[in-house]
Amino acid sequence: LTTERYPDVRRGSYGNLGDAQVAAFERILGANRVLTCREDVAPYNIDWFKTVCGQGKVVLRPKNTEEMSHVMKICSENRLAVCPQGGNTGLVGGSVPVFDEVVISTSLMNQVNFVDGISGTVSCQAGVVLEKLEKALKPEGLMAPYDLGARGSCQVGGNISTCAGGLRLLRYGSMLANTLGIEALFVGSEGTLGIVTQAVLQCPIYPRSINLAFLTLKNFSDVLSTFALAKRNLCETLSSCEMMDSASMWYLENKLDLKVPLEHDSNTFFMFIETHGSREDHDEEKLSGFVQDAMDKGFVLDGITTNEPARMTNLWQLRERAAEASSKEDYLYTYDVTLPLRNFYDAVGVLKQRIAPFRDAKVSGFGHLGDGNLHLDVTSPSYSGRLLNAIEPFIFEWVMSVGGSISAEHGMGFKKAKFLKYAKSPEAIDLMRRLKSSMDPLGILNPYKVLPPL
Ligand code: FAD
Repeated sequence: LTTERYPDVRRGSYGNLGDAQVAAFERILGANRVLTCREDVAPYNIDWFKTVCGQGKVVLRPKNTEEMSHVMKICSENRLAVCPQGGNTGLVGGSVPVFDEVVISTSLMNQVNFVDGISGTVSCQAGVVLEKLEKALKPEGLMAPYDLGARGSCQVGGNISTCAGGLRLLRYGSMLANTLGIEALFVGSEGTLGIVTQAVLQCPIYPRSINLAFLTLKNFSDVLSTFALAKRNLCETLSSCEMMDSASMWYLENKLDLKVPLEHDSNTFFMFIETHGSREDHDEEKLSGFVQDAMDKGFVLDGITTNEPARMTNLWQLRERAAEASSKEDYLYTYDVTLPLRNFYDAVGVLKQRIAPFRDAKVSGFGHLGDGNLHLDVTSPSYSGRLLNAIEPFIFEWVMSVGGSISAEHGMGFKKAKFLKYAKSPEAIDLMRRLKSSMDPLGILNPYKVLPPL
């Protein structure tokens, strides 16, 4: 599958896995943490969207740094290429092998070492799933500084390695800003420079009051006016500002059978605005006052505000399951880009025009408006190389022409590596290559990812 779709990628001159290496891994991890059976290995070879498939033959599941270091030594001595894998929720094909790389899964490195409620920090192993981290933080009155729809599977090490953004970045800042220390390093390096084994994160106080507004709007210009008004009126409490178009919402209603509780049609835009604060009555009044103001000004058609946890979870599902919904049934070509807000939604129109000859292809857009981060999706009933060639590199060239960036929060992974030249100068790419070869002289760490083929 991979070689067919990516004919320009060739296997590097790495060693081959043999019985001797498997036996050496088993001596360190025990036989049940060295997976070699085809069915056991299969899920580790396929990405979340099921669009990239590797041919890895072995999965290693160390439990701590010492074991990780021993297995890496064997890989290095035998020049075996490795693919570090966390929750395998990455959306750019970075977390699965391309050829037969050894998958090193951090799933069993899942211990929270300590939570310090006074300094607001947590220390944990790389394989701690975000949802588990939240559970450990809550009794200390803290929460994770970031939140993603993939919270039930994605892991701290994966979040650090992709420099994940998510639903709270607007308020609490990036993964880079909130990572105080890591054992091994490299925030945002997607497993190409080192494997994160443990981390210390800075965690904000769990807010006493959380309020959510779900809004409908008639056009994108009103979405922007509402965001500007939210920043002015909600000020220090504003923590999320997300948008969806009606085409994205269509997938939620039709593929996942979720109900949208406000009237809408095929031109409607939707916004989710969440506030975090410390005074329930004040925050509730502030959010309803903002929605009323936005309606009086004619920006918002209709809205719901709530601070009931179950209702908020239900509403958030509409946004958080957007990627899952558009990937159901159809083949999905998905792009994660940053755009200046004035051009944010133009991307959808430009792409629609570009692929108009492909009659059964659909374009939709949703994303983290507050961070200028658009998730741009194209679906078609099945994979089409012609459609892919119509989209890429066109979309990256257009994004750069309006001053955007070809990767926002998902990273470059495998899928975007060959397009790095659109984001970085030849000098910058050369520097990245030199850094990589000084830290990974054998080139065994997550090859074929991030950097373009030579
Ligand atoms: P994986 O997918 O396993 O790996 C991702 C990359 O990190 C790979 O290159 C891998 O080799 C490397 N890696 C993993 N663990 C380590 C380690 N310990 N050391 C070194 N390298 C490692 N992303 C966002 O930024 N914001 C969102 O809002 C968001 N929402 C999402 C919603 C859904 C429903 C889904 C499925 C995905 C979403 N994502 C989002 C993408 C994804 O969840 C993030 O990229 C996440 O940070 C990946 O974590 P993971 O543990 O699954 O890593």
